[in-house]
Amino acid sequence: MSVHDHPAHLLPHALPSYLNPDDVGPWGTYLQQVDRVTPYLGSLARWVETLKRPKRILIVDVPIEMDDGSIAHFEGYRVQHNLSRGPGKGGVRFHQDVTLSEVMALSAWMSIKNAAVNVPYGGAKGGIRVDPRKLSKGELERLTRRYTSEIGLLIGPTKDIPAPDVNTNAQTMAWMMDTYSMNTGSTATGVVTGKPVDLGGSLGRVEATGRGVFTVGVEAAKLIGLPIEGARLAVQGFGNVGGTAGKLFADAGAKVVAVQDHTGSIYNPDGVDVPALLEHVRSQGGVGGFPGAQSMAADDFWAVNCDILIPAALEGQINKDNAHRIQAKMVIEGANGPTTPEADDILHDKGVLVLPDVIANAGGVTVSYFEWVQDFSSFFWSEDEINARLVRIMQEAFAAVWQVAQENKVSVRTATFIVACQRILHAREMRGLYP
Ligand code: NAD
Repeated sequence: MSVHDHPAHLLPHALPSYLNPDDVGPWGTYLQQVDRVTPYLGSLARWVETLKRPKRILIVDVPIEMDDGSIAHFEGYRVQHNLSRGPGKGGVRFHQDVTLSEVMALSAWMSIKNAAVNVPYGGAKGGIRVDPRKLSKGELERLTRRYTSEIGLLIGPTKDIPAPDVNTNAQTMAWMMDTYSMNTGSTATGVVTGKPVDLGGSLGRVEATGRGVFTVGVEAAKLIGLPIEGARLAVQGFGNVGGTAGKLFADAGAKVVAVQDHTGSIYNPDGVDVPALLEHVRSQGGVGGFPGAQSMAADDFWAVNCDILIPAALEGQINKDNAHRIQAKMVIEGANGPTTPEADDILHDKGVLVLPDVIANAGGVTVSYFEWVQDFSSFFWSEDEINARLVRIMQEAFAAVWQVAQENKVSVRTATFIVACQRILHAREMRGLYP
């Protein structure tokens, strides 16, 4: 995204000096989203600049010894966007394309999301610019431990609590928890969420984001009169979020007709066998080559005849080049930031309902909150209890933003930003500025 895509009044004061104005990246998308909500903030708009710059950014060098004896250096980040409502909370991403702009945007979307579902957290995010598939397990462990140690200045059970994101998982969290615990001389289970269940993790956390996507999708489908039974689904990204959401929709009678991931795009108009596809992804590393479907060109994925489209991979996937080709009646954002503001407008004009990331994928952080609460009290809940509480929070939060969207005649994204920004800025106003 270039600087020219931004309304003039956003620039240059809103753009921090450490970002390249010619390539603002996902942070530019976030700034435009805040800009759209500002007219609805009333007297709280006085504080809106707080949302347009992260509170704190840490960039760390992560050197590790590789298996062949050489030394490799990786760049790592931890960004705390806003801590007005509580400690920072947000995942850690390992990906070769991670940038500061991306981590900034992801941290900001965490602030919005946490406020939207009213969990007592601010927003944070971390990442390392690395292709983890090129590292051995030992190298990955050393990378994770050194990164955790480097960001140890910022994280802690009452300060900032990381969790899994793209290419990180329960094992990554176990290493992070152990490293932090070694450095502090304690067993600090509450420093990360998404841990293995035997190490203070929560039942239901692995599926929580996908379950939240499904829950919000079902609620919205009722409102627009779209039956889930027989609905055709296209899913981009078949990892933790996309795979779980695809499975839950298929269990409810929907047909997963197209799936795309980093290994290929597949299509089956009768619906793929989802458990078989999940097993293929587990054993082969991706959907490419799945025998129960035909392969299709990557670009054609966006034009597939479907009712529901779930982007569950990376940012900026639905953009001005492909948005007009989308056939779906409803887009449920499993991924963070998958739709650019231009694409949002195109989809709106086509009458496509977009359920934004900041509400649709909030199920993960909601169960992370449950995990953190369970760790503090050392008292663990049953899976049924967790899923029931998750569904209730997601349904109530979605109903609240839907009502705001109807009242103000705005998109669900803007409505979610209205609810969330009001909560964050109200907290900011009550706390006041120090000194
Ligand atoms: P994951 O690593 O389990 O899966 C990522 C998926 O994206 C994989 O299927 C991968 O093949 C696919 N992918 C990667 N690059 C791609 C490309 N260029 N084109 C098509 N597909 C590509 O990660 P995840 O945890 O499922 O996260 C997916 C998205 O959901 C991310 O945007 C993440 O920030 C968001 N999210 C995750 C959680 C969570 O709890 N894991 C919570 C909220 C939001």
